[in-house]
Amino acid sequence: MPQEFVLATGNPGKVKELAEVLSPFDIVLRPQSDFNVSSVAETGRTFVENAIIKARHAASETGLAAIADDSGLAVDALGGAPGIYSARFAGENASDSDNIDKLLKTLAERPDAQRGAQFHCCLVFMRSADDPTPVIAQGIWRGEILAQPTGKDGFGYDPVFWVEEQKRSAAQMSKAEKNKISHRGAAIQLLLPQLIDAGVLVQQP
Ligand code: IMP
Repeated sequence: MPQEFVLATGNPGKVKELAEVLSPFDIVLRPQSDFNVSSVAETGRTFVENAIIKARHAASETGLAAIADDSGLAVDALGGAPGIYSARFAGENASDSDNIDKLLKTLAERPDAQRGAQFHCCLVFMRSADDPTPVIAQGIWRGEILAQPTGKDGFGYDPVFWVEEQKRSAAQMSKAEKNKISHRGAAIQLLLPQLIDAGVLVQQP
């Protein structure tokens, strides 16, 4: 019987991305919505703390090992804001376009040289709710904040996140292209060898 892990997200795209990377291993990744896991307040002050809160909560409600992620955008000129508040930058129920509008207004007077930013993704694996040694991986993706939204794909701040090496915004990339170079892709690639080293994932012969 394959081991089951719960992924502390309701986002089917995230489940698919991680499930693909974990497909060589004898495990099944299930979204927390399969278990009606309640939402939990993200009261941490760092991506790591919030990811741990979410993983612990999912593990506690399901009795399974859990993986959680927390991510956001950190703008250099804003001292790392919006950071952990990225989803609620323009208010509790802000839409992606509300958040983008607020960001563009905040940076309106900034020249190109002061528009550097990075996405962060922290992934946490916990064997149980009481696991004292969570496995943690963090990925970063550097870019610049555009003055105008560009591109139609992706979500969140993608339309204003310019990636110079690609000469495109994140919203002009396909999901597969983005996953290869994104903060989330990087965090997944860093988590995997740690889970193998820790004996959590066993490679099939
Ligand atoms: P969450 O960790 O998926 O809840 O993401 C928090 C917030 O960070 C999202 O609502 C987005 O605003 C922003 N964010 C995180 N990752 C990305 C990304 O890959 N593209 C655009 N925005 C992102």
